[in-house]
Amino acid sequence: MKLDDLEKIEFYDNSRLNFDHDLSRLNWFNIGGKTKIFLYANSLKDLSIFLNKFNNRGKIFVLGAGSNTLFDDETFEGTIIKLGKNFNNISLLKDNLIISGSSCLDRKLSEFAMINHIEGFEFLSCIPGSVGGGIRMNAGCYGREFKDIIVSVQAIDFKGRVLTISSSEINFKYRSTNLSENLIYLSGTFKGKLSKKEKIKKKIDELKSKKEISQPLKVKTSGSTFKNPINQTNKKVWELIRESIDINQVNKMFGDAKLSDKHCNFLINTQKASSKDMKNLINFVKENVYKKTGIKLELEIILAS
Ligand SMILES: Cc1cc2nc3c(=O)[nH]c(=O)nc-3n(C[C@H](O)[C@H](O)[C@H](O)COP(=O)(O)OP(=O)(O)OC[C@H]3O[C@@H](n4cnc5c(N)ncnc54)[C@H](O)[C@@H]3O)c2cc1C
Repeated sequence: MKLDDLEKIEFYDNSRLNFDHDLSRLNWFNIGGKTKIFLYANSLKDLSIFLNKFNNRGKIFVLGAGSNTLFDDETFEGTIIKLGKNFNNISLLKDNLIISGSSCLDRKLSEFAMINHIEGFEFLSCIPGSVGGGIRMNAGCYGREFKDIIVSVQAIDFKGRVLTISSSEINFKYRSTNLSENLIYLSGTFKGKLSKKEKIKKKIDELKSKKEISQPLKVKTSGSTFKNPINQTNKKVWELIRESIDINQVNKMFGDAKLSDKHCNFLINTQKASSKDMKNLINFVKENVYKKTGIKLELEIILAS
């Protein structure tokens, strides 16, 4: 990939283009090598300029808050795009509609809805990702998912075409959708229900305590590593893992990559795990769950390489 022409791009809104940029600090695992090209795009105008110049010459990966992504130790031979400033706004529209930029954190959107007495966004207070990542993953917990609040998504494709997609056109699945991977979500429009602020706050507090009790906090993780195999068994994936392997034994095998004692579907980097350690651990768990139960686990986390 020739990069000379990209170096000369002039942006209008202080967007930055870096080369050989370190990725390890941009994700919750704190794992990963460098990326050939890194774009920190502050506005749609700058993003469009980049996409036009880039002209689909290599792979692009859009990074949100990095709470569901495992990068490789090797250099990412493409472009990582992270959306900045102008994608971080939230506004209240009429009829309990909220429009949120895709780099806005889920918990900020949840708080905004609460302040404006809008119910339905409480679950977002428990998800550490961004709105863009939430749309891509159809993230959810405690019985609610993005699909329950999305009205439409605004996006730009890798060719620079801006489009609005109505939720009725989206097939939301368990932690995925049918939308093309060649889309960068710019913002989402969401709908809730008018309610009382105190009631909403109470619900948020309840969900947060529930989460605190069941999942590890303040660790380097990407949350649930594997999806619950809902079509194959009623058991949760953590139950399958527990009955298939000796967790204490396995936690001595893959360097600093371990299974959390509190929730064994959460893989954690206790210190300096590499991507290779993490992937070896993932494969070990997968193989052993398959051997014991006949169930093939599917990854929930995204491998970016
Ligand atoms: C402690 C912890 C708890 C968690 N709990 C939950 C939970 O309860 N429920 C749940 O569903 N998830 C949970 N997760 C996983 C994660 O927070 C969600 O999947 C979240 O939606 C990911 O958002 P992100 O911005 O961090 O995405 P990233 O990790 O940055 O990216 C994930 C995917 O989204 C894509 N993406 C990100 N932004 C955009 C964009 N603007 N346009 C296009 N594509 C984009 C990326 O390319 C990638 O494919 C948890 C993670 C952690 C670390």
